[in-house]
Amino acid sequence: MKLASEVIYALQKGLGYELYKALFLSYGKRGEKAYFYLSQNRVKKYRDFFVVVGTNEYIVDESFCSCPDFQLKLKGKEPCAHIIAVEVAKLLKHYDEIDAYYTDYQKP
Ligand SMILES: [Zn+2]
Repeated sequence: MKLASEVIYALQKGLGYELYKALFLSYGKRGEKAYFYLSQNRVKKYRDFFVVVGTNEYIVDESFCSCPDFQLKLKGKEPCAHIIAVEVAKLLKHYDEIDAYYTDYQKP
């Protein structure tokens, strides 16, 4: 997924008000939520996937997210807050890196 150019531009100033504003103006509530995930360090990079910790944990893989918002409401056509958060996190290198496979945690 390609982020809005306003967001890319605001990224140069790091995780601050400019970025918050750009995210909100470009993506509305979803952008606002994405900023919240970033500022609360809720983006985790496992060896296999990025995971965003919200009410539940959601797996983000490129332009796919396992959350119901993305699958049901947005029908996979627009990025949800988690996808936006991961894209920004990648560019800022702002995520917790976990040296394990997320899928290993899912096994009973
Ligand atoms: Zn999502």
